[in-house]
Amino acid sequence: MGITIGKIFDLTVKRYPQKEALYDVRKNVRFTYSEWSREVNKLANALLQEGVGKGDRVSTFLFNTEELATVFLACAKIGAVFNPINFRLMGEEVAYILADAEPKVVLFEKALEPVVSSIESRFPRTAFWFIDEAAPAYAASYREKVEAASDQDMSAKVHEDDLYAIMYTSGTTGRPKGVMHLHRDMLEQSVLLINATKLHRDDVGLVAAPMFHCAELHCAFLPRVHVGAKHVILHQFEPKQALQAIESEGVTKLFAAPTMWNMLLQEDLGSYRLNSLKLGLYGAAPMAPALVRACRDQLGISLVQAYGMTEMGPAITLLSEEDQLTRAGSAGQACLNHEIRVVRPREDGPSDPDDILPPGENGEIIVQGPCMMTGYFNRREATEKAMFKGWYHSGDIGYLDEDGYLWVKDRVDDMIISGGENIYPREVEDVLYEHKGVLDVAIIGEPDDRWGERVTAFVVLKDPSVTEQELDELCKNSDRLANYKRPRKYMFVEALPRNASGKIQKFMLRQKLEELRSGGWRA
Ligand code: ATP
Repeated sequence: MGITIGKIFDLTVKRYPQKEALYDVRKNVRFTYSEWSREVNKLANALLQEGVGKGDRVSTFLFNTEELATVFLACAKIGAVFNPINFRLMGEEVAYILADAEPKVVLFEKALEPVVSSIESRFPRTAFWFIDEAAPAYAASYREKVEAASDQDMSAKVHEDDLYAIMYTSGTTGRPKGVMHLHRDMLEQSVLLINATKLHRDDVGLVAAPMFHCAELHCAFLPRVHVGAKHVILHQFEPKQALQAIESEGVTKLFAAPTMWNMLLQEDLGSYRLNSLKLGLYGAAPMAPALVRACRDQLGISLVQAYGMTEMGPAITLLSEEDQLTRAGSAGQACLNHEIRVVRPREDGPSDPDDILPPGENGEIIVQGPCMMTGYFNRREATEKAMFKGWYHSGDIGYLDEDGYLWVKDRVDDMIISGGENIYPREVEDVLYEHKGVLDVAIIGEPDDRWGERVTAFVVLKDPSVTEQELDELCKNSDRLANYKRPRKYMFVEALPRNASGKIQKFMLRQKLEELRSGGWRA
């Protein structure tokens, strides 16, 4: 059978039964590991009674809650397949995933009830369990079912090669695809992150990023379960609340996407006691070196970066604390047991894994490693393309330097070609982030009759007095930006559209430009 996620949890419970495991801030609920184990067993039994068997899917449509943490483990123990759904999705998007994953049970909460009630009738074979106080429309309340269930350990015979989860990609580049992972993959990933973040049972981690996303779940949450550390769960990220929780619970480690770090830095940090916080993990989206420096200086913490994608578990490279200074801007080196190649991209199909480019040359990043997905659920063709010849094709562009450090440039789809020259938006974004008055930036390629595309900057200002001329001067004077990469147009906006994992949704900005153009607008 080998080691499964359920087994790992049981081992931790055995080792530290009385140790505090979890604190759900919103509900003001605390569990020791043995109390949590009891909750997990009750929920596992409630699911078994509902007819959920090995291989059946259980979906969650929840913000960060104790129930989400509990069902993750309950599924692992009975061999059910965990399917966390992004809480930002709207009715049709959720319906798309439910139709694809065909779960037996969906757990959801009050704030998301309007979305569920708009689609629920289309899924008569699925039980919808409402985790908050029972509402008349949902007789099958989660609480009642769990309370009525036994707390005996009914763990099924789960194998390490069994499917543990189906996680849908956020669809930054198209329709969401269900990424399938095995128990074994995730425990490999967990060990990598335990090492990289020097995680210890005395650590206290703040769950501030969304738990439905693999970055929080596999890089921070599961490693904490593995070593017996404590989780402090925030329902949703809110910077003041996060800082208060760090102070009151003595949080030592925090994973946050770049946009979340940026928001934390805008707060009055001096009015909180944050000296327990020792390490910050960042990733899921590019983070400008200027922001990394600001985090280190203003919060006084060590930083580790993870780069990766849902399909790979997610982390495939790590930039250690030691390398933050000398390799600022790099995504670090391949994780242990991983091999990364940069290969020549092809227009007519997946790139050939053996067409390897020399160090310093940009191409498609491909990777092999033990945490690679087994494929996309119900998507054979997409799986074959993504895993061509056994290598996961990331769709990201970058290069490896002579020492094996990876420098991620951008997504293939976001690259701008202007006058025949390739421009990676990230290079331009990193320069603009150096301006103290700039809060957020996104660089987009806008269709242009003469040059094919031209560089347009969407900018959110911290300081409203900053002018376009000032930003243009910064770009002109930068020794990192050739003239053709300078934005030719600036759009000052209130906020940038981001998905729940913090990625800028550039397709929405392109749409906005398109609408402006079709409305007769000219720069
Ligand atoms: P889809 O596959 O549908 O586009 P997605 O954007 O949700 O969905 P994820 O697995 O969440 O996919 O994100 C993976 C992508 O995020 C990577 O391919 C890369 O472009 C970006 N990314 C992740 N970590 C980093 C990082 N540390 N630096 C730069 N980019 C990163």
